[in-house]
Amino acid sequence: MADKYVYFFGDGKAEGTRDMKNLLGGKGANLAEMTNIGIPVPAGYTISTEVCTYYYNNKDQYPKELEQQVKDALKKVEDVMQAKFGNKENPLLVSVRSGARTSMPGMMDTVLNLGLNDETVQGLIRKTGNARFAYDCYRRFVAMYGDVVLGLKPVHKDDVDPFEEIMDSRKKKLGIEFDTELSADDLKDLVSEFKKAIREHAGQAFPEDPMKQLWGAIGAVFKSWNNERAIIYRKLNDIPGHWGTAVNVQSMVYGNMGEDSATGVAFTRNPATGDKEMYGEFLVNAQGEDVVAGIRTPQELKKLKDIMPDVYKQLGEIFDKLEAHYKEMQDMEFTIQDGRLWFLQTRAGKRTGFAAFRIAVDMVEEGLIDKKEALMRVEPNQLNQLLRPIFDMNQKDELVKSGKLIAKGLNAGPGAASGRVVFNAQDAVEWKKRGEKVILARIETSPEDIKGMDAAEGILTARGGMTSHAALVARQMGKVCVAGAGSLNISYKTRQFEVDGKVVKEGDWISLDGSTGEVLQGKIETKPSEVLQVLIDKTMKASDSKTFNTYQKIMNWADEFRTLGVRTNADQPDQSANAIAFGAEGIGLCRTEHMFFGGHRIQAVREMILSGDEKGRRKALEVLLPMQKEDFIGIFKVMQDRPVTIRTLDPPLHEFLPHEEKEQKEVADALGVSLEKLRAKIESLHEFNPMLGHRGCRLGIVFPEITEMQARAILEAACEVKKEGVNVKPEIMIPLVGHVNELRAQDQVVRKVAEEVFEKYGLKVNYLVGTMIELPRAAITADQIAEVAEFFSFGTNDLTQTTFGLSRDDAGKFLPYYVEHDILPRDPFEAIDQEGVGRLMEWGVEYGRKTRKDLKIGICGEHGGEPSSVEFCHRIKMNYVSCSPFRVPIARLAAAQAALRDKK
Ligand code: ADP
Ligand code: MG
Ligand code: MG
Repeated sequence: MADKYVYFFGDGKAEGTRDMKNLLGGKGANLAEMTNIGIPVPAGYTISTEVCTYYYNNKDQYPKELEQQVKDALKKVEDVMQAKFGNKENPLLVSVRSGARTSMPGMMDTVLNLGLNDETVQGLIRKTGNARFAYDCYRRFVAMYGDVVLGLKPVHKDDVDPFEEIMDSRKKKLGIEFDTELSADDLKDLVSEFKKAIREHAGQAFPEDPMKQLWGAIGAVFKSWNNERAIIYRKLNDIPGHWGTAVNVQSMVYGNMGEDSATGVAFTRNPATGDKEMYGEFLVNAQGEDVVAGIRTPQELKKLKDIMPDVYKQLGEIFDKLEAHYKEMQDMEFTIQDGRLWFLQTRAGKRTGFAAFRIAVDMVEEGLIDKKEALMRVEPNQLNQLLRPIFDMNQKDELVKSGKLIAKGLNAGPGAASGRVVFNAQDAVEWKKRGEKVILARIETSPEDIKGMDAAEGILTARGGMTSHAALVARQMGKVCVAGAGSLNISYKTRQFEVDGKVVKEGDWISLDGSTGEVLQGKIETKPSEVLQVLIDKTMKASDSKTFNTYQKIMNWADEFRTLGVRTNADQPDQSANAIAFGAEGIGLCRTEHMFFGGHRIQAVREMILSGDEKGRRKALEVLLPMQKEDFIGIFKVMQDRPVTIRTLDPPLHEFLPHEEKEQKEVADALGVSLEKLRAKIESLHEFNPMLGHRGCRLGIVFPEITEMQARAILEAACEVKKEGVNVKPEIMIPLVGHVNELRAQDQVVRKVAEEVFEKYGLKVNYLVGTMIELPRAAITADQIAEVAEFFSFGTNDLTQTTFGLSRDDAGKFLPYYVEHDILPRDPFEAIDQEGVGRLMEWGVEYGRKTRKDLKIGICGEHGGEPSSVEFCHRIKMNYVSCSPFRVPIARLAAAQAALRDKK
């Protein structure tokens, strides 16, 4: 049998299904699926992506079977639609549409009303009795054909489209604003003017032969797979070039037949909030792209209820049917022709983080999906949106009252952002680099603006709806966005916008409320999100916040399925309390050096460092002991019976030294030495490469009295809190160990102190002594180190630094270049380099547990809150990850997803 390249759909039966996205593209597969489940879809056929691949591999040739298969499929369409392609009495018109595996909104081309010429247009007039409509289709077709197939479409933003130019001058001449005001004769004139423009600009005549038109359009769609925009988009979204696009040829339905016709785009749920409501936009007497093109302002879908109640009801029924079938929120295109509803597209809808969580939870409660599915539907990083700041309402109200609410657009990306306004993407990137907060304002955005959108706190556009580029991208990035604020007159040239007589210049502060769509002049302080208000500030009741409810449910489900523990990095009681509120099960890293800076402690620390002998050091340490002890008491009280891993002193000592003369004098006086002598001492502590210098356990080994003091502070604090009946679990962690002997030396110091302390208090505390694994040698000799260590914690910041031989402090100069030029796939300080650093970790886990079967292993580097790294930690069977308090929820969710993927 010959290869099959063409798949028919129509009359309730399709050759494709939704599972055939690779072959039919997303659009084609879903048109087939909708046809099969009885949704009204105009008949048509899909030419598979294999033809696209063939076309590019064979110098723009088609497989030889294609022509016949297209003819056969067209015949079937004609039979269903009771009309004939190219027939002058009863012409069938089609659209020719692109459609890749994943949607690439607006990147490729579509031609509508194909099949019209000077003869068939007469047939269309006779058939419909509507000359205005027929010529409206005809002028649209000639322009689209000229743009898409004959290459007259402007490539750059500033180029003019010849057809738009003709249209605009015609409207101006007639003194009208909208294309709906053009008469049949006007439209007929436009057709001939358009054709003339084609002859002039394209160097060839508009083809009157429908078959020629068809093949021209099919070729143009295949070619559009490799247009500049599409290539850039694929790069940004990791879509491989070899996938190719399918071509959908589909009978036209007409939203431009008059007042009983319309076209629209819709979501089965609100994509900004997740509310279960019919959501979208439509335009009466319009076709295709008119809704998103911003020529006329579309109406809210809800208004359709008043205009066409029956259609609205049917639309709702189909929404329910599609959701029940796909078990997912859908984004759809529909057209109403003379009161009859047709569906032209459906796909899973893009949504904000808020909406994603809401929809996942609601769908579980509606019985559409189960908890596991819900957990896999959301992205851990989207939690940032639920935790993200909102405006201080008082300040906002004040601005509103004083008339600073200057515009309103669509609430396309929720959250609150305040920043200085810039008007192009490059400025946004540069200003951000200088440390400014910026809002990027554009008339509309295009894929070229993506970097600027990423750099901005928020995005503001004057044009475009909920489905515009700005709105889609902002939702994906999780950015604050107000789209389509139509009253703004933005001038790129003068770098300002004007609205109702007010002028906002480049650099002025504005504020965007992405949840309401409001644009305000001036700066507003932001404040914690509802989740934070409930969990941390306790300024809001859980029962008053829907968002909190959603958050809580997802988090509870995540805890049900995850096997990986989640701890936090915290060194203050209040931080620890926050982390517990976020679900932390312990502290994975308590840095003691932060405590050395508080109040007058730094003075004692400096005296300790600078005194020339052990006696002087001990004297200074004695001053520090009670203070450190108090710190730990505070933390143990908050953490109760949860484990608390405390790291002994880690940074190189010179980080604590005085650099200013006044401070140096104070220290010299306290030590009873001269300023010169002190300076010489400071000089002697200087290191060329402090990251590899006298730091970590190397300090405690040369100056055991430091470790002694810290161990005493920890264990005495533990005893004090245990006396109050709390089952404290301190874990003492020795940093930067490379050789087991280093750990052994420190372990002995700690254990000796422990005995003294337990004797003094007359009680015992269960404690552990373990180490960080942050040097390659430690990972490699994990079996030896585990002879002493009772737990491991991977310090992946230093481990990455030392594995790559890459200075964390200096890498900023070249790492971005590396990532941009694909030398490294990602910044290894952001996500664990699984192939390099990760291998050392796997080795460390395996060899550590060879010696000590139940060795407790965690991670406390920055990676502990990064989803792909969390999944890695799960895979290599760590016991827990530890991350900053605000990332604890993200880690919990990522851990649950890792566990669920594991079971699959
Ligand atoms: P895109 O992928 O850019 O959305 P589409 O192929 O979906 O491009 O089509 C562009 C517009 O034309 C959409 O609004 C769509 O609904 C409309 N359209 C496409 N085919 C038809 C058709 N057969 N009848 C009526 N409208 C159509
Ligand atoms: Mg579409
Ligand atoms: Mg370290």
